Amino acid sequence: MANTRVISPEELERQQPFMQQVRRFYEERRPDVSPLACVRTYGCQQNVSDSEHMKGQLAQMGFGFTENPEEADFILFNTCAVREHAEDRVFGNVGALKALKRRRPEVLIAVCGCMVQQEHIAKKFYQSYPFVGLLFGTHVQHRLPELLVKSLVERRRVVEIPSCDGVIAEGIPTHRDGTFKAFLPIMYGCNNFCTYCIVPHVRGRERSRDPECILAEARELVRQGYKEITLLGQNVNSYGKGEAHGVNFPELLRRLNAIPGEFLIRFMTSHPKDATPELFDTIAQCEKVSRHFHLPFQSGSNRVLKEMNRGYTREQYLELIRYARKTVPGIAFTSDVIVGFPGEQREDFEQTLSLIREVGFVSLFTFIFSPREGTPAAKMPDPISAEEKTAWFREMTALQETLSAERLQALVGTEQKALLESDAGEYLEARLPENSIVRVQGDPARIGESVTVRITSARSFILTGEII
Ligand code: SF4
Repeated sequence: MANTRVISPEELERQQPFMQQVRRFYEERRPDVSPLACVRTYGCQQNVSDSEHMKGQLAQMGFGFTENPEEADFILFNTCAVREHAEDRVFGNVGALKALKRRRPEVLIAVCGCMVQQEHIAKKFYQSYPFVGLLFGTHVQHRLPELLVKSLVERRRVVEIPSCDGVIAEGIPTHRDGTFKAFLPIMYGCNNFCTYCIVPHVRGRERSRDPECILAEARELVRQGYKEITLLGQNVNSYGKGEAHGVNFPELLRRLNAIPGEFLIRFMTSHPKDATPELFDTIAQCEKVSRHFHLPFQSGSNRVLKEMNRGYTREQYLELIRYARKTVPGIAFTSDVIVGFPGEQREDFEQTLSLIREVGFVSLFTFIFSPREGTPAAKMPDPISAEEKTAWFREMTALQETLSAERLQALVGTEQKALLESDAGEYLEARLPENSIVRVQGDPARIGESVTVRITSARSFILTGEII
């Protein structure tokens, strides 16, 4: 495999005695009472999946889980570095535990993930948050048992943040939060270096898991009754690039689709420069692959796209959408957009608005540009004021709300497949394959079931329906 460093089974095996040591440590501290871990996860689905792996390891070490830090023995923050606002929230939430640590000095507080992988942030935690006993980066999560031993048993303040191109650790136990929806990482890292993005700097180079490992995990999820499997990667469309196994993303989808059972395959995130006609041809042939496609366009202006280093033009993006709609009837798109990229002018922004009108997205994830230290965009001249960016942002969200409302209205009277996802008290929430939520009446015991729903009304962005 080209650049992939798969952690050897021997290296993973090395964690076993550390697991025993942690287990013994807590048994001696409080016999007959399981220690509790409170794991707080910020950011993307990849982080959620990482936390599920770390929770899997913690469960093997005898931990139970709690949402309440007051009753936890171990508090872990798995952080996100994509936007400044999210980082500020983490600093605030970690800072709020200072008093707890003073009252209960035996509690171990740890911070890991993308934020910590940045040197200036790790330094800030180390210097200004002395009650944080363990700091570790994205490339050593599989060594959590060893790091816990150093912190708890050896009573050291531990900082373990190696910088490397990234690793793949197979066979880490998983403690999944959901019972019918599962995340399945297929690759890690990114090679694209979009000029605004911190991800390649904190998650390393792109590397793909072996297809056989992915298929085995998917088969097991189906056997356990999972109804929806979301394949994860920073850029799933480039799955397999540079790897010796020769399986690309469409081929992986075909193999997953061939697994017997009733389940839906979703995936994220896609990159327009790597989404090929072959991919849409494959979706058209694979009945288990969702007809919802999240395809971030980021800007409708070619000038801004170039500054962002996105590797495609507005015209290429729109051509891709046209091809997809022709090939996969009913396919629905969602997207990410950044407003106020450095140097963006009103005419660039209007190009973004016109692209939104032309495509007709189901929904948009909209962001005001947030400079990330260490990325090229953070150093670009940015003359547009924060007020103006906010006004553009509002204009864009208002446009999308109007378009979404029209779309939802068009669904009234149709019958749709939906997955019953949650109990909201007065009604159940079901998700349509295109990603919209519909409210229905039903027995909460049916959550996790796939049903057919007739859409009866669409009001103020809320769909209501009845199970047929
Ligand atoms: S494709 Fe671009 S935006 Fe996405 S993770 Fe990679 S660098 Fe970041």
